[in-house]
Amino acid sequence: LKRPSILVLGAGYGGLMTIVNLQKVLGTDAADITLINKNEYHYESTWLHEAAAGTMLPEEVRYDIQEVIDSVKTRFVQATVEEIDVVGKRVLTDNGEYTYDYLVIGLGFEGETFGIEGLDKYALSIANVKAARYIREHIEYQFATWSTEPIKDDSRLTIVVGGAGFTGIEFLGELANRVPELCKEFDVPREKVRVICVEAAPMVLPGFDPELVNYAVGHLEAKGIEFSIGTPVVEATPEGVKIKKADDQFEFIKAGTVVWAAGVRGSSVLEASQIESMRARVKVEKDLRAPGFPDVFIVGDCALMINEETNRPYPPTAQIAMQQGETIAKNINALIKGEDTATFVPDLKGTVCSLGEDDAIGVVFGKKVTGKRASFMKKMIDNRALFMVGGAKLVMKKGKFNVI
Ligand code: FAD
Ligand code: NAD
Repeated sequence: LKRPSILVLGAGYGGLMTIVNLQKVLGTDAADITLINKNEYHYESTWLHEAAAGTMLPEEVRYDIQEVIDSVKTRFVQATVEEIDVVGKRVLTDNGEYTYDYLVIGLGFEGETFGIEGLDKYALSIANVKAARYIREHIEYQFATWSTEPIKDDSRLTIVVGGAGFTGIEFLGELANRVPELCKEFDVPREKVRVICVEAAPMVLPGFDPELVNYAVGHLEAKGIEFSIGTPVVEATPEGVKIKKADDQFEFIKAGTVVWAAGVRGSSVLEASQIESMRARVKVEKDLRAPGFPDVFIVGDCALMINEETNRPYPPTAQIAMQQGETIAKNINALIKGEDTATFVPDLKGTVCSLGEDDAIGVVFGKKVTGKRASFMKKMIDNRALFMVGGAKLVMKKGKFNVI
């Protein structure tokens, strides 16, 4: 009897958790498992703001996939997925064509620009490890150029961050610490540098606890970060961004660097497939399968699930992606054995938002935390994610132990 073949696309949090759990729950020789990922490494998306600001090196936020998978049970293929044909049950990549009995799509997120003019071309997005490295290098280049040019253009030293969601705030927290280092390294007076966060909504971190938001804003302002709130970015040009103010007037902010952190969507590869999606996210069935395609599961940021208590989608987070990976592995095992699949129920433990290396805000198990305590918790959450994928060995190698 032919063994069923399981194909997992993407080695992010969702894809890797699916793989490590499949390896655990499936009996020996129960299936052929293949994992396809663009790079030979996984990167911690939740650390990308650190690589983008330059407070961590790009190589620190990534590790080899082969280190955490069992090569006897899982075949790893480095390839870029170009097309998913769920009717023909095949996946086309730049490294050949793959067929499957069960497919798991975990291709992650891309930056959402909402069709705003110029953003695709002139803004940088913290979307993956290469993009993060580019942002870091771009900012360094602006500092280096300013310090050597005979007639100085101070707008080179202005950094605009679009969006004060968790990504924008975590990135600003790192920048607040990085800017003084850059000033020292490139002989730039600190007062020449401006870091401006532009947010469309009337508050920073819309919907989050106001007391914690005040704490975060106070912390960042004390380190020289400026906020422009209730002022959506409406256009980006090579010179900077245009924002709309409350009185319907427009203002142009000249900036050498524009980082767009104003939301995410799923993978454009998924969007081009036969599966129906909204902003490249598939509204999944309760057991995480794609509607109409009972052999296709969607994991992580490509999946959309409605929280029935709030009637709003669950936010796309690593926390949920990892839990979904566990459920999908169990559900594929159930299907292979001819059993019923289980409903996915997220177990939300809270949210911690870092404000640089030594500060953070958060709500954990319903309790508010700030400062060093919150920062410590954030590092433990990061280490726990490593542990769940690669055990103690990976924590020892990549974990965060620099508790201040
Ligand atoms: P990803 O982790 O994005 O992985 C997708 C994988 O697919 C990658 O390995 C990618 O290389 C690969 N891939 C993509 N396209 C292709 C292709 N065409 N072919 C082959 N491979 C491909 N969430 C939290 O819960 N807590 C946090 O603290 C947190 N912090 C964050 C900080 C930042 C700066 C950002 C940007 C996000 C943060 N998030 C956080 C959200 C979290 O990172 C995402 O929800 C999570 O990464 C989604 O996991 P995923 O497996 O769906 O996708
Ligand atoms: P987001 O959608 O949560 O926030 C985007 C922000 O950009 C919003 O505040 C929005 O009002 C603003 N915005 C939208 N259009 C704008 C415009 N034209 N001009 C200015 N501002 C505009 O996106 P995110 O922060 O990238 O987060 C993505 C996901 O990742 C979320 O689910 C988030 O919870 C998760 N995440 C979690 C953490 C954490 O837990 N520490 C950290 C980062 C990201």
